[in-house]
Amino acid sequence: MASSTSNHSHPHPHALLFPFMSKGHTIPLLHLARFLLRRDLAVTIVTTPANRPFVVESLQGATASIVDIPVPDDIPGGVESTDKLPSNSLFYKFATATAGMQHHFDRLLETLPRVSFMVSDGFLWWTLESASKLGVPRLVYYGMSSYASAVSREAFMSGLFSGSQHEDELVTLTRFPWIRLTKNDFESEFRNPEPQSLSFKFHMNMISATINSYGILVNSFYELESVFIDYLNTESAPKSWCVGPLCTNISEPKQPRKFGFWVEWLDQKVKEKCSVLYVAFGSQAEISAEQFTEIAKGLEKSMVNFLWVVRKREWELPDGFEERVGNRGIVVREWVDQREILMHEGVKGFLSHCGWNSVLESICAGVPILAWPVMAEQHLNVRMVEEEMKVGFRVPTCNGSVRGFVKWEGLTEQVRDLMEGEKGKKARNKVQQLAAVANKAVQEGGSSCQALDSLIRQMCDCS
Ligand code: UDP
Ligand code: UDP
Repeated sequence: MASSTSNHSHPHPHALLFPFMSKGHTIPLLHLARFLLRRDLAVTIVTTPANRPFVVESLQGATASIVDIPVPDDIPGGVESTDKLPSNSLFYKFATATAGMQHHFDRLLETLPRVSFMVSDGFLWWTLESASKLGVPRLVYYGMSSYASAVSREAFMSGLFSGSQHEDELVTLTRFPWIRLTKNDFESEFRNPEPQSLSFKFHMNMISATINSYGILVNSFYELESVFIDYLNTESAPKSWCVGPLCTNISEPKQPRKFGFWVEWLDQKVKEKCSVLYVAFGSQAEISAEQFTEIAKGLEKSMVNFLWVVRKREWELPDGFEERVGNRGIVVREWVDQREILMHEGVKGFLSHCGWNSVLESICAGVPILAWPVMAEQHLNVRMVEEEMKVGFRVPTCNGSVRGFVKWEGLTEQVRDLMEGEKGKKARNKVQQLAAVANKAVQEGGSSCQALDSLIRQMCDCS
């Protein structure tokens, strides 16, 4: 069943990390693994056969044990990562089916050297039972901000979802009176909860497992959202520990790096004294063909230099797009090292779907954001980017709804504003200040560094 890169018994505190099978949920826990290894902990990472190569490649020789356990038959082989699902509508089916891994996971826990604590994804709610059987404390990893958790909780408690407001009507949150949002800022399963649905049951399982876990590990830092962290730690259990931004963990690879062609292109742009807009929508956002064509037109007309990562095979560029754009823009269809791109000195703006990892990576690199939310809690992240942190602004939609269609004219205008205008300049100043705070938080004496140290001490006292 299980294969492992190293099988020795662990003389040090032993952390077991079990990321969910989405890129955006796996990557930060692999960063966490490095933070723990650097503190002399032994680390085991649990994954699945199809995800193992990605984990191995991302760890670049870091000395964690990697163990894979089989997936149940109702998850077809190869489709073990949500970015490989034919449609995001299959998400809850996939996430629910992961519970079929539980008996393999139980067996694994029994065979591993004593685990001091476990960090497992909120979506893998059933891991709590496995941990409890052996008396292993479980920390839950939610790949979202405390702002998104707190605002969702308040919206629910204040009856926003059962109210009669129109989906696009702005409502003030009593508890956070400076925040105004709409029902459309939330996914449909929250707006129209159906107790019999797979998603409802899944969320209930997740919430109840979270409440009964030792703590929540948050990929954020206290200075960024103290109001919301304090709120969560007063109003709900268990305790949230902010140990991020985890993407700040950058270490020298053991093997020589392979650079993509886009890095040379970026270097060239710097020599030409041009600034570049980085365009990417994460690993799994779905965008209609019509909207995709509009983005292409908007970038073409904007006249800015751009590097556009196009992840989905079905996204087709308009005829003649690349010829018309010439060397002003490049389209990359491969997996890129996004952190490396954002840190490149040529990159001065990010058109982003605002997945939480992308937001943090942009903040840490000091790059302002043109925000275009697509799914999950991205709409809340965009409110945070624009209204709380002020490190960017959103693209305008035709009908004013946060889920509306974006026309090329509006996109072009905002892209220019981000790259050359006053609004962009303000956001750039703000994000650069925040980058310094973010990077300090994870250093010796910083808030996240202290939180992680204190958490490890508590975990070691428990075991
Ligand atoms: N990412 C990357 N290369 C790609 C696409 C994505 O490195 O070609 C990384 C990105 O840096 C981020 C993660 O994948 O760490 C995506 O997470 P995010 O929360 O931004 O969005 P999601 O994919 O979950 O929607
Ligand atoms: N904030 C708050 N109460 C308010 C307004 C803001 O607690 O009535 C918090 C909010 O969470 C935000 C921070 O204070 O992160 C800074 O808010 P503001 O936008 O006023 O500050 P600026 O970014 O302009 O310095």
